[in-house]
Amino acid sequence: MHTYHTPLDLVRERSPERPVAFARPDALAVAARWFRKNFAGDVFYAVKANPEPWVIRELAANGVNCFDVASIAEIERVSVHAPGSRMAFMHPVKSRTAIASAYFDHGVRTFALDSHHELAKIRDATGDAQDLNLIVRLAVETPGAAYALNGKFGVSAFEAPDILRAARQATSELMGVSFHVGSQCMRPSAFQAAMAQASRALVRAAVFADVVDVGGGFPSVYPGMIPPNLTEYVAAIDRGFAEMMVHETTELWCEPGRALVAESTSLLTRVELRKGDALYLNDGAYGSLFDAAHSKWPFPVKLIRGEGATDTPLRPFQFFGPTCDSIDVMPGPFWLPEDVREGDHIEIGMLGAYGVAMATRFNGFGDVETVAVRDAPMASMFGLAPQSIPSPKGETGAVIKLTRAKGKKRRRR
Ligand SMILES: *Cc1c(COP(=O)(O)O)cnc(C)c1O
Repeated sequence: MHTYHTPLDLVRERSPERPVAFARPDALAVAARWFRKNFAGDVFYAVKANPEPWVIRELAANGVNCFDVASIAEIERVSVHAPGSRMAFMHPVKSRTAIASAYFDHGVRTFALDSHHELAKIRDATGDAQDLNLIVRLAVETPGAAYALNGKFGVSAFEAPDILRAARQATSELMGVSFHVGSQCMRPSAFQAAMAQASRALVRAAVFADVVDVGGGFPSVYPGMIPPNLTEYVAAIDRGFAEMMVHETTELWCEPGRALVAESTSLLTRVELRKGDALYLNDGAYGSLFDAAHSKWPFPVKLIRGEGATDTPLRPFQFFGPTCDSIDVMPGPFWLPEDVREGDHIEIGMLGAYGVAMATRFNGFGDVETVAVRDAPMASMFGLAPQSIPSPKGETGAVIKLTRAKGKKRRRR
């Protein structure tokens, strides 16, 4: 991977025609080390958030060498780029072939399930292996996440005890519980609440868990979505764990995706046409801007112009992507200098999670080249960025403080 000092250096050198992903390995290393130091258990990176080889390698090199995988393709990637690392197959619905290949070809021993039928599949496909770690995925009720993740997977509180007992009997190795409070979870207390629900299910089942896996959901920071400090999340999890009925040896796991990688990548796009406040870009809803289009997230942006910065006042723009589909629109608003024009490049920040990973080939677009850069991300949960990012509401040039008075927002909720 070629390294430039800053995005501007690349634009000056070769004004790229196609979108470019800017990888920030140094920022990723800081995030990985933060989780290793502050989370009181094992950190499994949820590979789907960003499966780029450099991400897997950099995480493993910085102590995050456990991986939450959901498919054989992800398992193969991790085997290649972080050989010897531990993997947990946390998708609650897997084909028998995938289970067998994970177990026999790749040494995976940890499998999630949320039904009796899936438990039977896992036992069957592994030849009734006696060394399985079985994790029962629970559906939890926790408000406060931008994306709910309990609609599709997870066993209800009513059915949980029966499956927990069956999983307990099926293995002499680890039996555990997991859940997902929802992605971009804005409330630390959601984790504690989910752990209390998990604890009640275990008590009703009258079994002990060897693993409590609190899943993902740790937030990153975006314009208009400024979460509490991550230390408040690990503190809530520590309190939740202390209140659970578990034994002394019970392990605590987590599966962060977004929080580890969101800051690590931004995307350079090019303006192909301007019509008033509409900028037609070479990337969009079918490329790396899924959340900007479908969830209308106003990601932070920066004009990158070869001849250098202008001090033109800012105004709000909306973006259109390159495909012919009329849903390929990102409403923003994105605040940029008012003289932005065809041929300008725009860097869109905070796209390391569910950004490049979501790109499709629709309409012949979607090719992204990756280069490394050394500058700071546009915003940071780990103290790496300047302490402000552009406001989404955006009085011209207005900024909102990244650090918020402690506890203030939580009281309001
Ligand atoms: C997607 C996913 C994660 C990661 O979620 P984030 O919100 O990105 O932290 C973790 N665990 C499971 C099972 C997932 O499906």
